[in-house]
Parts: sequence; C-alpha cells; structure tokens
Amino acid sequence: MCIVVKVGTSTLAHPTGRLNIRHVEELVKVLSDLKNAGHEVVLVSSGAIGMGVGKLNLPGKPADMPTKQAAAAVGQCELMYTYDKLFAQYNHTVAQILLTGEDIDHADRRQNFENTIYRLLELGALPVINENDTVATAEIKVGDNDTLGGIVACTVKADLLVLLSDIDGLYTADPRKDPSATLIPVVEEITPEVEALGGGVGSGLGTGGMATKLRAAKMVTEAGCDMIIANGEAPSLLYDIVEGKPVGTRFKGKDR
Ligand code: GLU
Repeated sequence: MCIVVKVGTSTLAHPTGRLNIRHVEELVKVLSDLKNAGHEVVLVSSGAIGMGVGKLNLPGKPADMPTKQAAAAVGQCELMYTYDKLFAQYNHTVAQILLTGEDIDHADRRQNFENTIYRLLELGALPVINENDTVATAEIKVGDNDTLGGIVACTVKADLLVLLSDIDGLYTADPRKDPSATLIPVVEEITPEVEALGGGVGSGLGTGGMATKLRAAKMVTEAGCDMIIANGEAPSLLYDIVEGKPVGTRFKGKDR
C-alpha cells in the first residue's frame, strides 16, 4: 500500500514551538515499521515555522512575512535533522522535498517533482515534503499542508492519505464549542452539508483547520484515495488505519 501521512505542527511541536519528542519519536517508529512491512510511505511534515519559533525563542507565531520565513528557514533544518537522526535508528533514509504552489502549477517542474519522488520511492527512501516557506509568498503558495498532502497523494497515486492533527476527526459540530458534537466515523460522499462542517481555521502555531482538510478530502477521494483524519497524539493508530479499522473519520475514495 502507498500511504501519505501529513503531520501538523500541533502534533510535532508543543505550543512553545519546542519539539514534542514523544510524538515525533513514536511517529518515526511507526512509519519505519510500516515501511519494514512493505508499505511505501511519504511524509508531508509541517512544523518548520513552529519549530523555528521555538529555536529562535520568539514570543509566538510571527505575523510578518520575513520573520515567518526566517523561522521556517531555521525550523526546517531542525525538522530534517530530527527526522534524519530518528529514522536512521531504524535504518531508513529520508529525503527532503520543498515545493511551492507554483512548482505544482508549472508542467516541467511538476514533472521533475514526480520523477524525483518516484525514483526516491524506488530507491527505498522516505520523502519528507513541506512547502518551501522561505520563498513562497501568498501568490505562489499552496498555503497549507492539508492541501499539499492532497496534491502529493494524487501525484503518487496513494491508496491512503492520513492527516494527523490535534482533533480526533470530523464532528457534527465544533467539539470545542458544542459538547453535544459527535464524531462522524465514515464519510461516503462530500456533500455540501459535509463541507458546511468545515468551519474556520485551526488554532496555535499551525495553518490549516477543518476547511482545508475537507478540501484535501475532496481532491483525493475524487482520485480514488481514502483519506483519514485522526489524532496525532497516538501515532500507533496508524497500524489500525492501515488495516482499515475504524479510527477518526474515514472519507471513502471513489472507485478507481
Ligand atoms: N509549511 C508550514 C510549516 O512548516 C506549515 C503549513 C501548515 O501547517 O499547513 O510551518
């Protein structure tokens, strides 16, 4: 099976921007094991800006572009250093790919990206993808990594896209505001009613929210790929997800 896992800043870093060691170590262990079991794994990782905030001791997520981009430049190093070191413990090799929306829209660059990622998978490496935040201005950005995860899953014709976030899945209402909200385990079709559950943006150091997740779901399910939203607190849930057991919310891909 080809699995794309997108991990959000809320899973990778504490609200301080410092690395959440427990989450990251567990994630790396599970992804390594899934690779050992014969699955192809691609990781779309956020956290560059968040971890840059931590490393530079900034008071919070910067509002201005140059500081955001500076934080991303620092944090991206820290992220890849961490992945390289942790995956190496399980004899896996990581590869960094940084993209912008412009790269995806440009036919030649997109082709180069596809050629590279296929070759990396053939070589047994584990691609780690993020937006190239240091050069991406608003006009040329993908903008959020849920969408980037969707683009990557379609590119590699993944069987499964898993979005690991700080929420258990899609709820009938915002569970932070409405205690009667219940989790929706399976979404067969993304109807306007489902889209209306998107609400606003997420909180803290991350960028996305439910709306970007639903957009990614629409994109990948059209291409025949299942998508799951699950809580990144317990990366070992990925074993159950791969086995098709009910975890979080599963959006069923259309028949290919
Ligand atoms: N590219 C951003 C980062 O690494 C994250 C974007 C997102 O979380 O959607 O900080």
